[in-house]
Amino acid sequence: MAELIDGKNVAEDVVRRVKALTAELLGKGALKPGLAVVIVGEDPASQVYVASKSRTAKECGFHSVQHTLPAETSEQELLDIIGELNADPAINGILVQLPLPSHIDAGKIIQTIAPQKDVDGFHFINVGKLGTGELETAFVPCTPAGSMLLIERVRGKDLSGLNAVVVGRSNIVGKPMANLLLAANCTVTIAHSRTKDLAALARTADILVAAVGRPEMVRGDWVKSGATVIDVGINRIAAPEKGEGKTRLVGDVAYAEAATMAGAITPVPGGVGPMTIAMLMANTLASAYLAAGLKRPS
Ligand code: NDP
Repeated sequence: MAELIDGKNVAEDVVRRVKALTAELLGKGALKPGLAVVIVGEDPASQVYVASKSRTAKECGFHSVQHTLPAETSEQELLDIIGELNADPAINGILVQLPLPSHIDAGKIIQTIAPQKDVDGFHFINVGKLGTGELETAFVPCTPAGSMLLIERVRGKDLSGLNAVVVGRSNIVGKPMANLLLAANCTVTIAHSRTKDLAALARTADILVAAVGRPEMVRGDWVKSGATVIDVGINRIAAPEKGEGKTRLVGDVAYAEAATMAGAITPVPGGVGPMTIAMLMANTLASAYLAAGLKRPS
């Protein structure tokens, strides 16, 4: 059976380290790292994520502010708030919770965030830095950054010559994940909905990352023996076995099947999910170190 990659545990390690480095930063006379989370509207899932981000920020010893705006907030009002946060020296990281209501152009909002405060790593400057291998100064999107840390725990930092297949090509997960694996010297293939014979392609992967959004799509016989499998997917499905109307979370990988083939695998929940918030804290800390004129912690 595969080794279970415990994302909750690794995320706790990251948060502990961020907390310690925050204390060190304060000891040098710098301001607390400041994270501003902006949420527009009342999407219940977004409310849960945002509450969890703000709670973890406080746990890290950050200055944490939350802007909870009504769904009818205009694009200009949101742009004005971003402008104020960009100019505020107490704020190092700005996160606008997506999705935004349809009358607001999310792309425009993201590109308005100052690149040095773009702790989600979605601004073109940060996307470009990652794409050109400028990893020292880029803010990398949190989910792929966290997935990479989990891969490193199993395989080490140098992944030279390993075949990596990333299923999914979103700007938030698939593409940045592929760039990180490329920077670590993997031979990378990105698969998507038009890819032919995905199962055969997946079987070539020493590292297989699934970021699709389709419950348990990756089957056990798609997995090469000994492969590292990272399941980014979070899907809620009906669970009649738990009672009427009950649901449960599953990933994009059929875990029980894949675990019989893989060398190591992330569970859902408790794999990649907890890493995303931990990496948001790490990015905010890095931004605070840079703002204080210090070297960013590695
Ligand atoms: P998107 O919907 O933006 O992208 C999904 C990708 O999967 C697309 O590139 C799409 O291809 C591809 N795809 C869809 N169907 C198939 C198929 N049948 N075969 C092959 N490829 C397919 O999703 P995200 O990248 O935002 O998220 C992916 C998953 O990760 C979701 O379950 C999401 O909930 C989860 N997630 C988890 C996070 C975490 O913190 N753990 C954070 C972010 C996301 P095409 O481009 O051709 O349409």
